[in-house]
Amino acid sequence: MEIVSVPAFTDNYIWLVHDGESGETAVVDPGDAAPVLAEAQRRGWTIGQIWNTHWHPDHTGGNLALKKATGATVSGPAGGRIPGRDAALAEGDEVRLGDHVGRVIEVPGHTLDHIALLFDDDRIAFVGDTLFAMGCGRLFEGTAAQMYSSLGRIAELPPATRLYPAHEYTLANARFAAHADPANRAIAERLGAVEALRQAGTITLPTTVAQERETNPFVRATNEEEFARLRSAKDSFRS
Ligand SMILES: [Zn+2]
Repeated sequence: MEIVSVPAFTDNYIWLVHDGESGETAVVDPGDAAPVLAEAQRRGWTIGQIWNTHWHPDHTGGNLALKKATGATVSGPAGGRIPGRDAALAEGDEVRLGDHVGRVIEVPGHTLDHIALLFDDDRIAFVGDTLFAMGCGRLFEGTAAQMYSSLGRIAELPPATRLYPAHEYTLANARFAAHADPANRAIAERLGAVEALRQAGTITLPTTVAQERETNPFVRATNEEEFARLRSAKDSFRS
């Protein structure tokens, strides 16, 4: 599978996913339709499926326009307010792109109905606003306990798994991580690397499970209480 980032709004990434063998294309969390259609057209790809990780408008705002323009089907979490949804996804369901199979897991915390899509054979996961590089989503609907457990399910994937979050938050997350865990050399090194990338305007994603286990304080938290303390500290942290 070929995966292309389409920047949207100030810091969203919409992921275009293309399978060369079947010629099929899907889009993950299209908050906006126009940049997605432009990128797909530039590449000669036709979008057949829309996959949403959660209902927030910056992830679903382009659903209806894309559906109208391409006839794509919309798959999203069962409980959510997903515009144009054709298929409701819950734990254990699957999405398919050609021969590639994505397994649905429920990862509540950021929203109650948040899902992630795990392409086990490809070692790829679309994680929405649950896990960010060196960080995690805010708790808008769920509890710290739910988010801690959800992050754990992603962090237990094979270390080489590439993770595709939906926002470029890495620099702010890295600064918080360095503040929260100043003795961690892997975090200090990654902060330097991320600063250089962002100075050059370069994307910092995808990340990997291995990198997150080493440098993500929320993944590294050893219990719910520690996670909850970190999450509220990050909410008020100004780098
Ligand atoms: Zn969100």
